Amino acid sequence: MMQNNNNTAPISTKAPFLSLFENLQYGELHLKQDIQAGFFGIIAIHNTTRGPSLGGCRFIPYSDPQNAIIDALKLAQGMSYKAAISDLPLGGGKSVIIHSEKIKDRRKIFELFGDFVESLGGRYITAEDSGTHVTDMDIIFEKTAYVTGHSNIAFATKDPSPLTALGVVTGMQAAAQHHLQRSSLAGLHIVIQGVGNVGFRIAQLCQHYGAKITVCDSNPKALQHAKEHLNVGICTVDQIHSIPCDIFAPCALGNAINTQTVHKVNAKIVAGAANNQLESIEMARILKEKDILYAPDYAINAGGLIHVAAQYLHQDETQAREKVLKIYDTLQSIFIQSDTTGLSTAEIANQIAEQRLQA
Ligand code: NAD
Repeated sequence: MMQNNNNTAPISTKAPFLSLFENLQYGELHLKQDIQAGFFGIIAIHNTTRGPSLGGCRFIPYSDPQNAIIDALKLAQGMSYKAAISDLPLGGGKSVIIHSEKIKDRRKIFELFGDFVESLGGRYITAEDSGTHVTDMDIIFEKTAYVTGHSNIAFATKDPSPLTALGVVTGMQAAAQHHLQRSSLAGLHIVIQGVGNVGFRIAQLCQHYGAKITVCDSNPKALQHAKEHLNVGICTVDQIHSIPCDIFAPCALGNAINTQTVHKVNAKIVAGAANNQLESIEMARILKEKDILYAPDYAINAGGLIHVAAQYLHQDETQAREKVLKIYDTLQSIFIQSDTTGLSTAEIANQIAEQRLQA
């Protein structure tokens, strides 16, 4: 275990995860291993100034533990920023359990993880993420109360995707009003990269609001599902950035806007669900120079976190929905500050989040 309370001397070793630990201004990093069970768990707690850290538990393979630690550190910092920009009384944390062939007993893994979470006394609250499911949260709940998204939660919809999609579409409306002076999405052309859980629902909602939609997906099954259930145009994965449109919505993986693609973007607005859409903050500056309004990813896609947080904070689904609709005001404020300062929207969002984390 390493703890950096900001008063201690800088950590001198140059191991990549330690540099990141310092640069991202951590925080806590906890590791737990059970060799017999094949368990290797990581819990990164970035910041608890605003409240206990909340973030999902990933259960996926990694090429080595260092990469898993780096993933957890980056993701937990992202959760701090997302909670702060959404004005939630929570900090940022994330956990990773390294998936490996050595693991024979899944139940044992999540029992061990539940004990691990419990040992931190509530500074970290866990939830579902890539590779984990409600049934895993149920096992964790047997060991600790610091878990959400389990079967005992009263929410009818356990899946955060519908509220994530609602938040993204609300953010698109704010962007369309600010940048195109359009009070609705009707008649706008919206291009969606990735029609998985969230992207499909965004397409559904945008269609409901009268937008024209074009989609792509690298998975033929997802594309077929969209074709069968929606009235959408289809393009290839390679064409997606350059299609002339009003809104480009990255809803697949991270890094959709990178040095290769940023100059191809032929949209007036970039607003989508994916995490880490920008390869670097420089991409946000280039988009601004091209007069493309970028809705910062962690502000527009906070609906999923709001959904999970509401369960933990014993709020109901109506309260969660009301909070998600506030994404409109959050983004409007970011857009206005970007106009008045000349900074990119991503820089403004970071400034707001950092101020709140230091408060
Ligand atoms: P998902 O896996 O259900 O959907 C992603 C889709 O993108 C898949 O259909 C996949 O085939 C497709 N895809 C992958 N690479 C692609 C490419 N290069 N081009 C086109 N399509 C590609 O995931 P999801 O839950 O819909 O999440 C989408 C994004 O939103 C992710 O970045 C996720 O981290 C982020 N996000 C999701 C939530 C949520 O509530 N699920 C919340 C916040 C952020």
